[in-house]
Amino acid sequence: MDNSFEIPISRRDIMKMTGMTAAGVIAAETTGEPRIVSAAANNRENGTIKYAGREIPVLYSVDVCVAGGGPSGTAAAVMAARNGARTVLIERSVALGGLAVLGCVYPFMDTLAPDSDTPYVAEVKERLRQHGIEPFDGVTQQTWHNPEILALVYDEMCAEVGVEILYQTVLVDTVLAGHTITACIVQTIAGLAAIRARIFIDGTGDAFLARAAGAPYEQGYEKTGNNQPLSFRFEMGGIDVERLYRHVAVELQEDWCRSKPPYFEIAEAMHRKQRYKLEELMARGVESGEITQEEAEYMQAYTIIGKNGVMSMNCPEIPVKFSATDPVSYSKAVMYGRKMMHHIAGCLIRRLPGFEKAFISREAAMLGARESWRIRGRYYLTESDYHNQSRFPDAVCRTAWFIDAHGEKVSEKLPAGGFYEIPYGSLVTEKIENLIVAGRCISASFILQASMRIQPTCMSIGEAAGIAAAWGLSHKIAANEIKWYAIPVGKRSYVSKMR
Ligand SMILES: Cc1cc2nc3c(=O)[nH]c(=O)nc-3n(C[C@H](O)[C@H](O)[C@H](O)COP(=O)(O)OP(=O)(O)OC[C@H]3O[C@@H](n4cnc5c(N)ncnc54)[C@H](O)[C@@H]3O)c2cc1C
Repeated sequence: MDNSFEIPISRRDIMKMTGMTAAGVIAAETTGEPRIVSAAANNRENGTIKYAGREIPVLYSVDVCVAGGGPSGTAAAVMAARNGARTVLIERSVALGGLAVLGCVYPFMDTLAPDSDTPYVAEVKERLRQHGIEPFDGVTQQTWHNPEILALVYDEMCAEVGVEILYQTVLVDTVLAGHTITACIVQTIAGLAAIRARIFIDGTGDAFLARAAGAPYEQGYEKTGNNQPLSFRFEMGGIDVERLYRHVAVELQEDWCRSKPPYFEIAEAMHRKQRYKLEELMARGVESGEITQEEAEYMQAYTIIGKNGVMSMNCPEIPVKFSATDPVSYSKAVMYGRKMMHHIAGCLIRRLPGFEKAFISREAAMLGARESWRIRGRYYLTESDYHNQSRFPDAVCRTAWFIDAHGEKVSEKLPAGGFYEIPYGSLVTEKIENLIVAGRCISASFILQASMRIQPTCMSIGEAAGIAAAWGLSHKIAANEIKWYAIPVGKRSYVSKMR
């Protein structure tokens, strides 16, 4: 990324943006500035900056700019705004929720850590319930949401606290003054624009903002160079779930799923030690040439609450020779994955009782990248932290989801009740003062990331990022110098219970 161009902004502006004036975030909130309602009004108010040799409009000049509206970015934006920061959220699609909505990734997994729900996570679950989606099956701790309702919940949460969402807007670059990001460049529906902010939060999942700003990062597994495999998830409609349940749970006596319809799940994974009853069906599909061995390897499907007869398909898993970090390879993976999807769906329709009248009702709007790029931050979480169940004074949340490194076939579990904590230090870098990174791209090794990447944990990290951003601004502390434990207990979403 080229950050060497000139930005015609005054020293006063830079001081304002980096929080060096006495005007804190709360003061800005109380100046009674009129709410900005259109791009034209914003542009008039904020002027232009020079980027790549041309003048481009500054669409917003705010306290906090969050890139990426996935589980982590949305949480960060809501919490920053709730804590008094004027906040803009950039999302390249037209729905918040990231992989949970656009990627058809479902449900929120159980962190397996006791008492891990931070207030924001508990609130999202409660809001789903208020919208008629009961997220609990009464047996497991996973959260059976509904992607369309989740997107609505996120819109409502943002609107209530005044987060300005810029949809169909792609972050393309950053502008720096020394070690501080002063603006980011976005591609909007109207063309290139800039957003000035005092703190930037990276919720892109791919550490895009951090990489654009020159923060150190890594990608893939150090032993093989591979990313975790991509998946092209989809939904199937027209399923007779009662018939499916009778066949799988009663006739085949598969005990994998502990809950009953409407909360029902089927699965098979040929590489696992555990033998699933549906492996035989997939093997027959391979024998007959309907599906390939790689298509048969992994298949999982969950009912979706509020979408009768529809299941969320956690497959196909695309071979690791396709990369989550190479744009050409990624694009080939889309076509390869789509073909796999149709083969698997056809095989299930022909062979699985309950699927006779089923069809592909929706394909994900983004490939499922379990892991792509990860920052190298102040603290680098590793598998030792997992096995040692590390605790940190600046911990922002806890989790215990197992190390689920698809592709490398590494799978490890903590003893029941065990957990490790995620420190604020793994959200920030030495290099960039006003950057916080949230979600699956925080500073963690490939293997550790395979545990911390689940949605509730990403939400809790985002929640902390938003709280910290607002706190840092109102106390004039650089984002990468914030001591999470210095934030009063009542304002923190999580307080470590050091051993
Ligand atoms: C196949 C698969 C199955 C999984 N299964 C589960 C599961 O069952 N349960 C569970 O809890 N977790 C599961 N996960 C993990 C979980 O879904 C992700 O790790 C989690 O969603 C990460 O959240 P995030 O906010 O970091 O990023 P993401 O969910 O990836 O969201 C990133 C957001 O940023 C946006 N964005 C990216 N780049 C830009 C840009 N340049 N400009 C603007 N916007 C941008 C994207 O559009 C997206 O909305 C699974 C993941 C995969 C891939």
